[in-house]
Amino acid sequence: MEGNTASCDDTRSFVAGKQCELVNANTVLSQISTIIIGALFAGILYRCTERREIWIWLAFLVATAAARLLLFRIYRRRAVTGDTDRRWLRYNFIAVATAGIVWAFGTFVFFNQEDPIAGFFIAMIVAGIVSGALPTLASHYPTFCVFAAPTLFCFSLRTILAGRAEYYVLTILTILFAAVILSSARYFNRILMDTLLLNRENESLVERLKEERNAAQAAARAKSTFLANMSHEIRTPMNGIIGMTDLCLTTKVDPEQHGYLTAVKSSAQDLLAIINDILDFSKIEAGKVVLVDEPFPLRASLTKTLQAVSVRGAEKGVAVLFDPAPDVPDLVTGDVGRLRQVLINLVGNAIKFTAGGEVVVTVRVVEKGMNDCLLSFAVKDTGIGIAREKLAVIFHPFEQGDLSTTKSYGGTGLGLAISKDLVESLGGHLEVESELGKGSTFTFTARFAIEDAVEPADAAPSLQGRTALVVEPHPVSRGTACQESSEKRALSLLIAEDVPINQALIETILSRQGHQVTIAGNGEEAVRTWREAPDRFDLIFMDVQMPVMDGLEATRQIRGVERSEGGHVPIVAMTAYAMKEDREKCREAGMDDYISKPFKLEDILSVLERQIAVGPGVVAATKQQ
Ligand code: ADP
Repeated sequence: MEGNTASCDDTRSFVAGKQCELVNANTVLSQISTIIIGALFAGILYRCTERREIWIWLAFLVATAAARLLLFRIYRRRAVTGDTDRRWLRYNFIAVATAGIVWAFGTFVFFNQEDPIAGFFIAMIVAGIVSGALPTLASHYPTFCVFAAPTLFCFSLRTILAGRAEYYVLTILTILFAAVILSSARYFNRILMDTLLLNRENESLVERLKEERNAAQAAARAKSTFLANMSHEIRTPMNGIIGMTDLCLTTKVDPEQHGYLTAVKSSAQDLLAIINDILDFSKIEAGKVVLVDEPFPLRASLTKTLQAVSVRGAEKGVAVLFDPAPDVPDLVTGDVGRLRQVLINLVGNAIKFTAGGEVVVTVRVVEKGMNDCLLSFAVKDTGIGIAREKLAVIFHPFEQGDLSTTKSYGGTGLGLAISKDLVESLGGHLEVESELGKGSTFTFTARFAIEDAVEPADAAPSLQGRTALVVEPHPVSRGTACQESSEKRALSLLIAEDVPINQALIETILSRQGHQVTIAGNGEEAVRTWREAPDRFDLIFMDVQMPVMDGLEATRQIRGVERSEGGHVPIVAMTAYAMKEDREKCREAGMDDYISKPFKLEDILSVLERQIAVGPGVVAATKQQ
């Protein structure tokens, strides 16, 4: 109710402001004309009547015109500061009314009934000034009336009082004119009011839309921050669940327990995939996806990626075939991570929705220019297919083709929405063709810059023609190989981690590898422990979010000491924050490497291999300083 009154007041002030603006429009020109017309009026009537009072009348008229000009000046100044409320309409009303009365007085008193020519001349002047006032004064109807009515009324009264037939004609004409001009002014005023109100509504609509857009943007930001925080909070305990299950699986358990533990691990991994999807989706929605341009061997990268996903196919008896066209360039520049993500998603779906048969992944060249090329990737399966009416909706977030089949296949309905957005950010389109019961083909295009075809040293063998990928259901774990190399030397490692279960997990993993582990419960403790014997530790694993002092600050402090005292201990971030910006923050703080939680045994071993293999030179050299 209060809100309504406030908005009514607002509208009234808005309309009054606009009316004031219109009433004041053209004031300078109209007042100068008034003075000129008044002078002609006085001059001609003086010749007919020879009454000197007419000059006094003219002085009054000039004074009212001057007063209106002065008022206009003040109004203009106030308008700049926005101080133009309904008061100004009242001031104008009084000024215009005074001018109306002066004109009415002039026409009544100086009318010369002996001279019909002068009578008609006065009639013309009256009609002229009233019509001239209509376009501006009619914007505020009472102001127009207070100007026109007294003049027209006095003139008609005067012509009646003259008591001569020729003046009765003037009376009738003046009354007709008054009726027409007053009703035209009313009509004009109504149209103007409607337009002003419409304007006002539009303005407030635009205002409201702006406010709503800002609120929606703020809500979207809050949502993605919430999702990022939630995913961090979920990833931390997931680290404990997956890690501990992994550890348990390496101990002596009977086949039944092994089955249960494997189920726990696969459920935890499914949950993690969902969390990653939600995080990805929230990043895309918040416009936070940043593409990375780097040269990569296309066939070799895709072969590796497809080999990894094809393991799931092999378990179900679905073969994954890779068929790149011979003219597909070997070395291209683009975001290989995002390309992989889309392919893993599409091939993962194809395997999921195919009971038996094959999934064929093809790559074709659509356009090849001097510097770039547009490639088309197709993932064709022989699975359950998608109903025609569902083909469009499956690309919407949280939409799934058939809810009954979804129950048995699982999923969140986010994969295709993410893939579609990623493909568009790679400069392409994602489409699907499908027939229920026969299978589906998902096709997408992506643009890449072409590099000179020099095969990089670590490239996997390129594939030509259609090739079946890994069919071995259980790939050899990289853990064994890594284990051997890092067991060569027992390392002294400092772990900064505040969550007890994660402390226990990483301690067990590393001690089993023969390394010596020291635990610090927060950043401050880590810095203190390291300062007691800086040469003691070969590497520090540093959690990022910790109480008392976080990992970023602890790293900055360690690097600060090293700058003055020499040395360089490799610091590896361990964090549940999965965004790229977080990785950047870690590097800026002075960390050397990064593993994201939940980490796997292989992640820890390969980071050790990487850092200590790269490190001995660096570490040894700096230690000697
Ligand atoms: P999810 O697979 O997690 O449900 P997606 O967004 O990846 O989410 O897929 C949305 C829906 O599209 C799936 O639930 C499924 O109904 C349908 N779909 C996707 N890929 C295929 C496919 N290869 N064959 C049949 N249906 C598919």
